[in-house]
Amino acid sequence: MLEADLHRLAQWLRLLGQDVLLLKGPINKAEVIKHYDRVFITTSKKLEGHFKAWGISYLLLPKDEWKAQLCLIVKHFRIEPALKLNRCYHCNSELNPVDREEVKDRIPPAVYIFGQDFTLCPNCGKVYWKGSHHDALRQTLKEILACC
Ligand SMILES: [Zn+2]
Repeated sequence: MLEADLHRLAQWLRLLGQDVLLLKGPINKAEVIKHYDRVFITTSKKLEGHFKAWGISYLLLPKDEWKAQLCLIVKHFRIEPALKLNRCYHCNSELNPVDREEVKDRIPPAVYIFGQDFTLCPNCGKVYWKGSHHDALRQTLKEILACC
């Protein structure tokens, strides 16, 4: 569970297959208690105080750039640092495999021809596919983790 301003971090954690929700708006006890079984990730010392008082699991991150924060989280939770690509990185839903014909009108023609392993988000309707953009993501991930 992350604060809304950590959205970049949330997207990357979802690429690694992690179930990550972003808390939108002001953070209050009622909202936090609803998700008591999650670990809250925050950069706020003030919130840390609240989480302690409410008995909520949390991880306090330094106010650093998202790459350094991602490193800390991967280490802290011993997350396998590999792209899983099984979750929608926009909305966190698990993706379903889909036939390219079913999403033909939602993807560029070149993707229709060259894309592979299409998946569809059942929640927001975003279409994903395997392609060269994954190499770029893998490279970025490698660079980030090399600095841990
Ligand atoms: Zn989605």
